[in-house]
Amino acid sequence: MSMDAAETQAALAAIARTVSTCRDCALASGRTHAVPGEGAADAEIMFIGEGPGFYEDQQGRPFVGASGKFLDELLCSIGLDRKRVFIANVVKCRPPQNRDPQPDEIEACAKHLDAQLAAIAPKVIVTLGRHSMQRYFPGESIGRVHGQPRRKGDVVVVPMYHPAAALHQASLRKVIEADFARLPNFLSKVVGGDVEARPLAPVPAHLKREPLAAGTSPAAKRPTARDEDTSAPAGADPQQMRLL
Ligand code: URA
Repeated sequence: MSMDAAETQAALAAIARTVSTCRDCALASGRTHAVPGEGAADAEIMFIGEGPGFYEDQQGRPFVGASGKFLDELLCSIGLDRKRVFIANVVKCRPPQNRDPQPDEIEACAKHLDAQLAAIAPKVIVTLGRHSMQRYFPGESIGRVHGQPRRKGDVVVVPMYHPAAALHQASLRKVIEADFARLPNFLSKVVGGDVEARPLAPVPAHLKREPLAAGTSPAAKRPTARDEDTSAPAGADPQQMRLL
């Protein structure tokens, strides 16, 4: 039986409490805050990223650094905002030095994401980057499948490049923007007309990204990981490279 919005809200709050005290993998020892995820309890669309970076760890909220700002822009460009969707990650605690989450960490954390998915029961899941893509398309290459919705049981999954990838490579920015631009048309078929009916919104000035300049991070360190410090080599072939 599906939950009503209040029950879902309560379930999500309980999951967030469990996440905040979870010590089931080594990432717990390095965290400032766990980052359970946030958004609408009745979201029909859920975005799943990789894991918290520096700013997310500081604030306990997902996608609040540079890649989060870009994600906000992308959502805005298709008439959505983060209050209408739910945003989570495959691991809820920041990996040290923003390294990739390890398979055992992803596995230890999967129960939290599974519980969130069960509570929200989204119609559409957008995976951001290869770690969340692997949950649904093991062994696939993001360069091959990005932007292509596929049904997985009751849900449709759309694999996307990680927004952080676009911060490193201009050509990928175009790819992720184009993949997002196709979402409303597709979402309207899966979740109803409301998404398609909205005109493509111009990006408001306060969401416009400033160019990243070395040394401008408030933390006086190169902005981090899943955010700014990812390892996409300039000029790499999107089909070949190991992408976020
Ligand atoms: N990158 C992610 O994958 N998740 C976040 O929450 C922030 C950056």
